[in-house]
This record gives sequence, structure tokens and C-alpha cells, in this order.
Amino acid sequence: MNPLQLAIELMYPRLCSACFGTLQVYENHICIKCNLSLPKIALHENEQVKLDKKFWGKLNIENTYSFLQFIKNGPVQNILHKLKYKNSPELANFMGRWFGNHLLTLGFDKEVDLILGIPLHPIKQKRRGYNQADQLAEGISEILQVPFETNILVRTEFTETQTNKSRYKRFENMEGVFKIEDPEKVKGKRIALVDDVLTTGATLEIAGAELIKAGCSELSILTLAAAL
Ligand SMILES: [Zn+2]
Repeated sequence: MNPLQLAIELMYPRLCSACFGTLQVYENHICIKCNLSLPKIALHENEQVKLDKKFWGKLNIENTYSFLQFIKNGPVQNILHKLKYKNSPELANFMGRWFGNHLLTLGFDKEVDLILGIPLHPIKQKRRGYNQADQLAEGISEILQVPFETNILVRTEFTETQTNKSRYKRFENMEGVFKIEDPEKVKGKRIALVDDVLTTGATLEIAGAELIKAGCSELSILTLAAAL
């Protein structure tokens, strides 16, 4: 590190996105302590069943993989908040590559042909400057060496924040929100759909249904975090 970099580091210490502790010069985005201690969703049968169950009877999903367990007010929530609201496309990309390495150990690179992020509405994306799901998907794609595209699945209507609405209302609101721009690129493909967090799964379900309708041969869900 040259003296100028060192001075910048001292004046503006970089913070861990999970615990807000000061990062050492050799650490990026997440400190080593958090790297080791963040609650990973080990794919034990119990946790995998909890993930799979979110789509049972709704959508025919080949694999559902989530990397971290979402716990309210915990370090994973800090990461997700920063991904969305703190202009952090690099963090999303970094987390995507980390998740991608985990997926690689599961051999998932051999089970997928195309990776897509859940699209944001264009107005929202313009406001935020990036789509965190696309940034995650790009990081995963880089590690798995599987193509990633942004203009196949698109969002057509603006939906206001959904958090206070009932599940049914949320669903009703989202009908027709996603559209497949280029069905030829979907047909016969094994597709992985990426989002930052899996809670009820309503958004993924509606977008996934469009991909199945357009003729993808298999659909998998990848989310950085999940509430089990
Ligand atoms: Zn940390």
C-alpha cells in the first residue's frame, strides 16, 4: 500500500458490511470474522426441506439454494440493507461471487444453462442506479461460467412497496408484472432465477411462472439469503 492509500485508509476506514467493524487492508466488504461466522444455510435435509417447501404446490422448482440465513436485526440483514439502499453494486457482485463459489462446490454449474436476476422496474432501477439481483446474478455467473442476461425477463408495471399487504393482495397486485421479452432464449433452457432474499417467495413465484410458461426446461431459484 502506498502512503497515499494508507492516508486514505486512515481517514476513511472501510467498514465490514455485516458487523460495521473496521476492515483490515487485506479484507474486502466482509471481515474475516463475519466471513467465518455468518449463518450459512448448510444444506442439511431439514433446512433444504424448509426452502423447498416455500414453492410446494405452487411452482415446479428443480433446486432452491440460499446461501445465508436471514435473521432480523442480524448481520445478514445489514448486508441486504446495504445491497439495496447504500449504492453498493460492488458488494452485491462480491456476495454473488462468494455464493457462486458455494454453488460450484455443489456442482450446480453443470445443472444450469442461463442465469437471470429478478428485474426491478426501470424507474426504480434508475433511481437506485443498479439492480442488486442482477449484480448478484453476474457474480454467480462469473464463478459458474454460465451465461447471465438482463433483457429476457422484464418488469412492466410499477408496484409500490408490498410489505404491508397480505399475501393475497400482494399476489393480485403483481399479476402481469413480469414479461418474457425473448421467449426463444428461454425455450428448453435450464434457468436459474436470482434474487437477494427469499421470504414468502411470491415475487419469485410470479416471475418463475412466466419462465415456465415460456418453455424453460427446468427452473431453479438462487437467493443470497432466506428466512427459514
Ligand atoms: Zn464483520
